[in-house]
Amino acid sequence: MISTFFRAAWPRSGLADRRGHQCLQAASGSSAPGKVYLIGAGPGDAELLTLKAWRMIQQSDLVLFDDLVSEEMLAMLPAHIEKRYVGKRCGQHSLSQQRICQLLVEEAQSGRTIARLKGGDPAVFARSAEECDALEQAGIDFAIVPGITAASGLSAWCGIPLTHRECAQSVRFITARMQSAESEPDWTSLVGNQTETLVFYMGLNRLELICQRLVQHGMDPEMPVAVVEKVSLADQQMILGDLTDIASRVREQSLNGPALILVGEVIRHRYPVSPALLNTIRA
Ligand code: SAH
Repeated sequence: MISTFFRAAWPRSGLADRRGHQCLQAASGSSAPGKVYLIGAGPGDAELLTLKAWRMIQQSDLVLFDDLVSEEMLAMLPAHIEKRYVGKRCGQHSLSQQRICQLLVEEAQSGRTIARLKGGDPAVFARSAEECDALEQAGIDFAIVPGITAASGLSAWCGIPLTHRECAQSVRFITARMQSAESEPDWTSLVGNQTETLVFYMGLNRLELICQRLVQHGMDPEMPVAVVEKVSLADQQMILGDLTDIASRVREQSLNGPALILVGEVIRHRYPVSPALLNTIRA
């Protein structure tokens, strides 16, 4: 499906910039410097894109998007804009982060306006810093449009508050991409704060380990846990349990992700929202 969005690269010609660097010029002949918008696309539901994001996308020549940008969102993008997949999950089409940075710089130097569309919020586990560094070094103007991070989408679509006067004074977003024991989070500090909601990103295949570690470090084994896949999309799935049984419950459902793991007393304060009410425009 994603390959539908591939197009042949825009024809370009070589040209040296003010600093004497080799850069590329768009076939249109425009030599004005390009610019880049790093845009948060939200968790999936296309209407969660902000008005500002939508306006910036419409002004762009090229959209570079990740695999977490939903097909629903991509289908909504204006037909005249070139769309290129630069995700890192789908085998043959994947680009290294370094190559994505290069591509942003090259395309902007050719005079194009680029919407760099990322799932959720660009400031949350999205490697925006590397892209901003590359753009800054190349002297390219860029701006950031925030998006709704997956945890906020989960909260709305599942009716689970992230903070609550009675039990959660803070919320912590944690990456579960632990390459080695050294890169594991500071479990003691995660467990030490009894009034904090924990949200693990990228943790689906480490769910069991996360639960074990939290219990080993002293968290109540009956602490509620919610695992939510495909937040805000039509096939969203939520599985509830506690630290002792959530891993086996999730295994029975064979989820593929993307999914969040939310741990905290706030789950006991879940309100009965009807996300179907939000679907009326789409229907
Ligand atoms: N910038 C993104 C996070 C990117 S890290 C944001 O702000 O949301 C990728 C992880 O985000 C996934 O592994 C998953 O844990 C989470 N995620 C992103 N979209 C999601 C969705 N629709 N449903 C559940 N989890 C999601």
